[in-house]
This record gives sequence, C-alpha cells and structure tokens, in this order.
Amino acid sequence: MDELFFILFLLLIFDLLHSITGSVSGHTFLTGGRLCVIFRLLGFVKIYNKNHMESRREDDMALSQETDREGVSLEKFLRSAKLILGDKIDGADAFLDRFTDFDVEALRDLTRKRLLSVLVDVDDCIAPIYSAIPDANLAHVEGMLSFGVGVGVYSNCKGMDRLAPLREMGVQIYSGKFAKPSSKGFLEACANAGFDPRSTWMIGDNPITDGGAVGVLEGMAFVRPIDPPVEMGRLTLRKAISLPFSRCLRGIATGLHLEDNDRLVTSYDVHNWRD
Ligand SMILES: [Mg+2]
Repeated sequence: MDELFFILFLLLIFDLLHSITGSVSGHTFLTGGRLCVIFRLLGFVKIYNKNHMESRREDDMALSQETDREGVSLEKFLRSAKLILGDKIDGADAFLDRFTDFDVEALRDLTRKRLLSVLVDVDDCIAPIYSAIPDANLAHVEGMLSFGVGVGVYSNCKGMDRLAPLREMGVQIYSGKFAKPSSKGFLEACANAGFDPRSTWMIGDNPITDGGAVGVLEGMAFVRPIDPPVEMGRLTLRKAISLPFSRCLRGIATGLHLEDNDRLVTSYDVHNWRD
C-alpha cells in the first residue's frame, strides 16, 4: 500500500504543477488511463524491488528489513498536507541545533515541565541516516540515563543492529506496529518502556512524523537534522525515490513552523540558561 499512496501523491503533485503552469487543460485527476498507469507502475515497483532485493548483499538485506515502518502512509500524507496548508504545531517546546543541546535541567527550568523520560528518533536525529550513532550522542544518552531520565527509542525503522550500544545501556526500543505520526505509536512506545506520557518528551527532527507527539506527550523537542550526503546505492528503489520528497516536505514544514518561532526554546537559550 505504501507504493500506492506514494504514486498517488506523485500524481497529485504532477497535476498541481500542471494546473499551476497551465500546460495541460481540461484534465481530470485519476482518469481511467491514469489508473492503468498507476497499476503498471505498482507492478514495476514491486518487480524491481524484488529483483533489486535479491541481488543485495546480506548487510543490505538487513538494512531493508529495518525499514518496515517507513514509507508513505495516508497518515503522513494527510499530516504533510495539513502542516503545509497552515495547521500550526502549537505546543512544541524546543527547536535545538543538535541532539546534545537537549539539556534536561535547562529544559525543565525553561519550560516548567517535569521531563522525566524521553523517546528519541534515530535517523537524522541521533544518527546520520542508516549510519552508526556518533560517540557524542551515545555519551549524551548515557548522561541522561545517569541523571535519572528514562530513554527509549521510537523510530520508524525497526530492529536496527546499530542500536546495539543503546540496548546495552538499557534503552527500550519500540518494536510495535504503529508508525509515527500515529498517536497510538507514541503511547504504545511509552507503555512498552514503562514511561508516563504525561512526563515524557519526544526528541526528533521531523515535524511531519515526530511532530505527531505534540499534544500526546508532555513535551516535544525538535532538533535540526543531521543531513550528510546519502549513499543512494544502499537504498531500496522506493526509499531512493521517496527520500528527496520526504526531506523536501520536512524542510517546508520546518521552515513554516520552527524557524524563527519565538515560542520555542533554542540552543542559545539552553546554553545561556544559567545567566
Ligand atoms: Mg528522523
């Protein structure tokens, strides 16, 4: 179903662009001919993915299996549309330059919230996409744990070997079926980790997915994405096509809702909190 939603989304964008440029007149979205094209494309994507997957090395197979909560879902599509068309992310708490700027003491004081536990996103938040977690971020998680703050992972990727260092620290990793931005996922991730949603924050880079925690958990801290070049050869076809779009949508939502938002605590506020 992910492919269907994604291709429908592409066709919608295509139609919108044509409408704006006026290069096609009198066209109707989802004509019989276009539906045929959709189903042909779906077949192509499935065949290509099957062949592509069979030819991958073992580690790449492991990578593909990690991604089974990813993809374009109706929920993500609707949330993207809402955020871009003007819905606000009222209720978010912070927009930080990096994960290590998430200073529990400072944020408790600046927001007057309890902040007893956190759920952290992985890709582009504590690790470059599909890459190992940098030592500085592992040390920051360890610091939070030793400070008495519960730490869990809620990523749309599942079962990642690169999370082993976090598991060894005792960090709980959500392995359920609900993908962000589903509110059920945030609540279930809390329940699995033994956290109270009323004192738990989400830390993530993406207003469209991670931002679903706003109004569900006690707090939401966004961080600027770690955004190095991606090795496209390591991605499935679906991911290679969807990644630029999802990053583009994330960039638009970030620009509209987080940049220059005076109500959010920033890294500057955190660093100068004691002054
Ligand atoms: Mg992320």
